[in-house]
Formats: sequence, structure tokens, C-alpha cells
Amino acid sequence: MDTEQNQEFVFTHRDYHSHEGVFFGHDETTGFKGIIAIHSRKRGPALGGMRMSLYPDEPAALSDVLRLSEGMTYKAAAAELKLGGGKMVVLADPKKEKTKDLLLSAGRFVQLLSGAYITAEDSGTNLEDMLVINQATEYVVGIKSGDPSRLTAYGTYLGIKACVEFKLGKKELRGLKVAIQGIGNVGSKLAEYLYQDGCQLTVTDTGEEKVKRLSENNIKFNFVKPEEIFSQTVDIVSPNARGAVLNENTVPQLKCTIVAGAANNQLAEEKIGSRLFEKDILYAPDYIINAGGLLNVYMEVENPDKYDDKVAHRRCEPIYQRLRNIFTESQKRKIPTHKIAMEMALRNLK
Ligand code: NAD
Repeated sequence: MDTEQNQEFVFTHRDYHSHEGVFFGHDETTGFKGIIAIHSRKRGPALGGMRMSLYPDEPAALSDVLRLSEGMTYKAAAAELKLGGGKMVVLADPKKEKTKDLLLSAGRFVQLLSGAYITAEDSGTNLEDMLVINQATEYVVGIKSGDPSRLTAYGTYLGIKACVEFKLGKKELRGLKVAIQGIGNVGSKLAEYLYQDGCQLTVTDTGEEKVKRLSENNIKFNFVKPEEIFSQTVDIVSPNARGAVLNENTVPQLKCTIVAGAANNQLAEEKIGSRLFEKDILYAPDYIINAGGLLNVYMEVENPDKYDDKVAHRRCEPIYQRLRNIFTESQKRKIPTHKIAMEMALRNLK
């Protein structure tokens, strides 16, 4: 077996880092194919969204679910929640293949694990889908608390304020230039917060309809092509589209002092975080700044009948101080912020 092939196996996969369990589900009557990865349950049941996507191949799907579930462990631990890290991917095109039967198969697969994994909406799935899934499993959240992207955007906005205060010594965002990659669920709501605070926005998205929707919201912005977003001369670059966008290609292009956005797994590799630090660019570790959505659904895990939107917003506020602490320690010890964040998460996993 050559190394290339070897990478496709679970225990030798480059993204397999002592995951507790990886489960492959298939239902031949509906065509459902999915993978649930449970990275850790040290702090509680493994919670993470159900992502529906077309992947180039099965190893790519496995890679995604392994990386995302591990990220959920650190996100929950850093936010001091009694939750572990898990994730589910459904290998299907959400625009063409998402049927009620497929969703029910996905729900039955979740139920099979008897609560070791709790699912929620993620890219390619939404609240309506969760209501269907709930017919097949009780282990689903996001029913009462609704669209998590509202809170993810709010937490990211607070995180950007923490970055600005630390790096630029400013309490206000007025006049700052921000380049936003991705104006989907989170990015568009973040754009609203930043615009209301007087930021000058440059945005990009691969979906034309997203750009149209943002302009209908009375938000003024510059639009640039997707490949131009990382080379904008701005104060802040905010990745809100997808993972691995900070890489050998994009980091040399950066002309900003802060990188802070909600996308998961922004660093293509560990060393990219160090590269940002060497370039004196303040990086807000993704799983710290984007924890708002998780904090929101956690309220439902605690008590589904007591969800309160105001309380959910209040629970996002510690994101600001958590980032400030990370930045201060990073400066004091001359260690990149992503490493300090990992130390913090690992401390909470002991
Ligand atoms: P979304 O699918 O609604 O938005 C993503 C947007 O990015 C889409 O509009 C898409 O067209 C655009 N996009 C994709 N590739 C692009 C590219 N190369 N250049 C420019 N635009 C591109 O997803 P979302 O819910 O807004 O989540 C955005 C990111 O934040 C994801 O990485 C997600 O994992 C992460 N995240 C989301 C939440 C949440 O509550 N939704 C929570 C934590 C983290």
C-alpha cells in the first residue's frame, strides 16, 4: 500500500487525532451516506453540526469531519461548556438531493449513537431540516434557539472589537476598513454590525445572490472578486466563507493588521499561525471568536424550555475578554495567539 492510499484509512489519516469514534452510516433505500466523528466526550456529549455537502471524494469528507469534530472539542473546552466535540457530514448536494427521506435516514443514524453525539444545523442544513430530523432522533438542538449564525456573527463582532482595542488602541470601529470574505449567514449579519458602527466595507462572495441581498439591506460596500479579497489594504480581514483560507498563497498577500472572522479551521496548517505572528498581524483564533453559535445552542442543551435570546447574547460577551487574555499572554510570552488558545483549551480538557 503506498502512502497516498494509506492517507485514506482512518487511524493513519493525517487528520485523525485520537478521535473516540468514527461512524459510517449508509441507508440503501434512501441513498443516505454520512459520517459522524466523535473527537472527545471528556467534557460532555459530543455536539456539532450536520454538514451536507458534495465532496470531491470520500477521503475529503472524512478529512472534513475529522477536522471539524476536533475543532468542536477545543471550541467547547475554551468556552468552558460541558460539551465534547463531534460533527457529522452527509455526502449529498443540499440543493438537489435533500429529501425528507434522506433527512430521516440522517436522523436515524444520529439516534443509533444514543446521545453520544448531538446534532445541529450547519452549512447545507437549516432549521426546517432539523425539525424533520427531530422526527427520527431526540438528539438534535437548534430547534428552540433557531439560526445560530445570528449569535456567531454577534460574538465575532465583539471579538473584532477586542482585536481593535488591543492592536489599534481604539474603543470604536468608526472609519476602520474591513475586507469580508463570504457574506452568507454569518458574514452578512457581521457586515450589518460593522456597517452600523461606521466601518468601510469591502466584500466578496462567490454567490451573486448574496451580494444582491446585502445591498438590499441598505449597506454600502465595495465589491471585489473572490481572488482579490486577501490583498486589500485594510485594517481587518474577516474570513467568513470556508476553512484553510489562510495559507502559503494568501498570507503573503495580506496588507492588514488584524485577521478576525468566523470561518472554522482558517489556518491551512499550524505554521501559518506563526507566520501571521511574525508578520505582526493579530490573528483571532477561529474557535474562540466564532463560539457564539455554540453558546446559543448550549442553552437548549441545558434546558430546551428556557431559551432566551437576550441571555444568549449576554453569554457571548465573554468572547471579548477571552480574546483579550489570549492577546495579552501572546504578547507577554512572544507566542502566537493560536498556540495560546490551544493551551487554554487543553487546560480545560485535563
Ligand atoms: P454560509 O454557507 O451561509 O456562507 C458562506 C458564504 O461564503 C457563502 O455565501 C458562499 O457563497 C461564500 N463563499 C464560499 N466560498 C467562497 C470563496 N472562495 N470566496 C468568497 N466567498 C465564498 O455559511 P455560514 O453559516 O455563514 O458560515 C460561514 C463560516 O463560518 C463557515 O466556515 C462556518 O463553518 C463558520 N461558522 C459558522 C457558524 C454558524 O453559526 N453558521 C458557527 C461557527 C462557524
